[in-house]
Amino acid sequence: MFNFDYTRAATQKTATDAVMKDNKAKFIAGGTNLVDLMKRGVEMPEKLIDITKVPLNKIERTGDVIRIGALVSNTALAEDELIIKMYPLLAKALNAGASAQLRNMATVGGNMMQRTRCPYFYDTALPCNKRSPGSGCGAVEGYNRMHAIFGASPSCIAVHPSDMCVGMAAMDPTVVINSSRGERKIKFTDFHRLPGNKPEQDNNLQPGEMITAIELPFNDRFSKNTAYVKVRDRNSYAFALISSAVALKMNGNKIEEARIALGGVAHKPWRCTEAEKYLEGKEANINNFKSAAELAMKGATAYEHNKFKLRLAPNTITNALMLATNK
Ligand code: SF4
Repeated sequence: MFNFDYTRAATQKTATDAVMKDNKAKFIAGGTNLVDLMKRGVEMPEKLIDITKVPLNKIERTGDVIRIGALVSNTALAEDELIIKMYPLLAKALNAGASAQLRNMATVGGNMMQRTRCPYFYDTALPCNKRSPGSGCGAVEGYNRMHAIFGASPSCIAVHPSDMCVGMAAMDPTVVINSSRGERKIKFTDFHRLPGNKPEQDNNLQPGEMITAIELPFNDRFSKNTAYVKVRDRNSYAFALISSAVALKMNGNKIEEARIALGGVAHKPWRCTEAEKYLEGKEANINNFKSAAELAMKGATAYEHNKFKLRLAPNTITNALMLATNK
């Protein structure tokens, strides 16, 4: 048990000013991951700034973008009419995550900020460079069945746990970030980072910054042929062994544009850009899907207990492409 202060911010400025002033302070919204981390002593913030009353809970069209406030719940986003019509892949990815109760509480910004579910990270008796930099990585030589096959480093082989973020990565939105220094925007695919020699940093947020929105282009290019396939140990309330988000822009049976992202494979949602390029201009058929899936596996490396992912990942991509094209 440890003591911490709690304050509720009414505005974005009060919230970002409070965190800028005190580097031991943390934002809290739905709390669906942070509270668990605090109970286990993995995170021990001295101050929590509750941002649930900050007005960032709208999904609205602003000019040529759909702006999703960072405090929109996962349920509200998955059930929003505009999202279902224009970005059904996002709704599918969201509904594959967690449980209905958790989706009701979890926010879009919090979903992006959730931390890996590597069991060594959650057990404070074990070494973990992400929790305690320099202490070692228990998973590299340990039980690494859930771990990365792309982009890992000797310091950390953890994977990002989100489903929503895999769907987002495929759709290429922009992340709007605010702090007392002002506003900046970055590509969603540049938000999360690979572990390198700083696995304690999950993303590229700077101190004092808060995610305030996600912006998606207002168009329906990827509204028809989409699929999110999640392979996991049980059918609900489980993290992905592998997941694949696929969106295709079709002209008859020909693929004009492809988007493919994987979850459960890396420290960040993993875009398969080479496979996407390969599919452009190709007929939608099983042979082309399999070739794209093989291309997506270039550079994959497994550890002792997750070798099965080297076959499961391409099979999941192929399956998602088949579903997206009704094959
Ligand atoms: Fe920690 Fe990363 Fe190693 Fe897991 S994989 S024990 S999170 S350093």
